[in-house]
Amino acid sequence: MCTVTFMPQRTGYCLAMNRDEKRTRPEGLAPALRNRRGSQVMYPSEPSGGTWIALNNTGVSFALINWYSVAQRVKRAALSRGEIIPSLSSASSWKLAHAFLNDLPLDRINPFRLVSVFPTSQEVIEWRWDLQQLVYHKHPWRLQQWVSSGFDEATAQAARGRVFKQAQSQKSAGTMDWLRRLHRSHLPNKSPLSTCMHREDAVTVSYTEISVFGNRARMEYVGGAPCSSKASRYHLQAPPTETETGSYQLQTDDQHAAGLASNLELSRAKPQFAQRAPCQICGGI
Ligand SMILES: [Zn+2]
Repeated sequence: MCTVTFMPQRTGYCLAMNRDEKRTRPEGLAPALRNRRGSQVMYPSEPSGGTWIALNNTGVSFALINWYSVAQRVKRAALSRGEIIPSLSSASSWKLAHAFLNDLPLDRINPFRLVSVFPTSQEVIEWRWDLQQLVYHKHPWRLQQWVSSGFDEATAQAARGRVFKQAQSQKSAGTMDWLRRLHRSHLPNKSPLSTCMHREDAVTVSYTEISVFGNRARMEYVGGAPCSSKASRYHLQAPPTETETGSYQLQTDDQHAAGLASNLELSRAKPQFAQRAPCQICGGI
């Protein structure tokens, strides 16, 4: 159960994701920096280590949603879908990601949809696995949304799709504020169908926002429903001039606080999500 929105920008893009989960599921852990196949990758995680969204140091991002419309399930010894992104998150091209995906024991993984954004080539690729075949689709570089729901996927997609379409007629459409309002929206009502999802046994448990503009890459994470005020912010910023390899350097707040040699800045604060407080370390937002 999740909503993922891709929003292109003049010099980059944003990818926002509401993660909807059962209330009984262990709470996710805030983003941390990892080393994957020699590359720096940042992602929040399950306590067991898996994840649903990631950003790597080439500005590439990945978001995974379940595919409930496909009823078939792995019969035994299923591999968690949370393991998919960690295994391919270092990929700087969709062809590399495709190769990593094909290396996975897909016959042990339940149906999923994986959305990935490659800013250098301006490609939005979606893979779909239905336990029969892995197919990929190249989406246009334009505003779009993906929805999954274990409640009633078709109805949730239609309801959120209507809200998404209506929101696009707003004057602020395409701005970061607009994207955040959309992801904390309770339209048509606070329910299993709203983008910020609420139901008795499940809720939107986190909001993750990736933004890549020019030579800046940032991940922001709200641990809790985006309509609530509980927020942990992660602010990643590339150097003013790109590194030799043109890649982004990601850094944790611990490293930043320790003053390790880097031009990168990252802040962690607890502001009201609706009110963007400046970074307490660098003054930026
Ligand atoms: Zn809400």
